[in-house]
Amino acid sequence: MAIILVTNDDGVHSPGLLALRQALTSVGEVTVLAPERNWSAGSHAKTMHKPLRVTPVKLADGTPAYSSSGSPTDCVALAAGGVLGVMPDLVVSGVNRGYNLGVDITYSGTVACAMEATIKGIPGIAVSTGFDVEGETEMAEVLALAGRVAGQLAEQVLARGLPAKTLLNVNVPALAPAQIGGIHVTRMGDRRYPLEELVTRDDPWGRPYYWLGGSAPVDVPDDGTDVGAVRSGYISVTPVTLDMTNHPFVETLAAWDFAAVQPRAEQS
Ligand code: MN
Repeated sequence: MAIILVTNDDGVHSPGLLALRQALTSVGEVTVLAPERNWSAGSHAKTMHKPLRVTPVKLADGTPAYSSSGSPTDCVALAAGGVLGVMPDLVVSGVNRGYNLGVDITYSGTVACAMEATIKGIPGIAVSTGFDVEGETEMAEVLALAGRVAGQLAEQVLARGLPAKTLLNVNVPALAPAQIGGIHVTRMGDRRYPLEELVTRDDPWGRPYYWLGGSAPVDVPDDGTDVGAVRSGYISVTPVTLDMTNHPFVETLAAWDFAAVQPRAEQS
């Protein structure tokens, strides 16, 4: 049976992680190793200058799991390094509370887990949903649906594999399952963050402190994109590549002026 590592960036006790764990038990043998705290927007942080701890914990349904003092991607690296005694065949990250659409993937710890897996030669899937649901029942339904989608994708990734340097980024609309239109395979779309609204306050000693991150994104819901799909009530599945080269621009850039450095003399 395939070994599946479930991890996240919301922390080991997030309900999204539990939903994912429960959904994937029918696909493979699931092991959980996730950060002990919330690292959302922590991107691809790696701990290199202090030791890491791995601690056995129990999830809310009583199942055993591990937490780590490190970042989301540290968890993947620890697992790939053999800390669990088994090598994962697949890493599934989430279900994140908050979409990872468009440029969000550059901030996302959830997506970074799938990136780290890809770098380690293990296929990776990142799964996210929104915040904007009515209550706990609705959230449980959304998470269960996200889990089913993750399960079906996990089965196929294990059977078919993924191309080199490629991971799947999945976003499930925060809607009742009956309102979901289906699944669209998409490209990365555009989500614009307005100029950061800097919230400045004074501490009790009169020194200023600052809050970042309070500005809501403005979605550009183009057809064929992750943003467009989710805004129209579809689940988006985007194949994301680690090759961040702007290939069409390479030739144009090569025609720029690089006279600051003289070419070395060719040796005969
Ligand atoms: Mn998160």
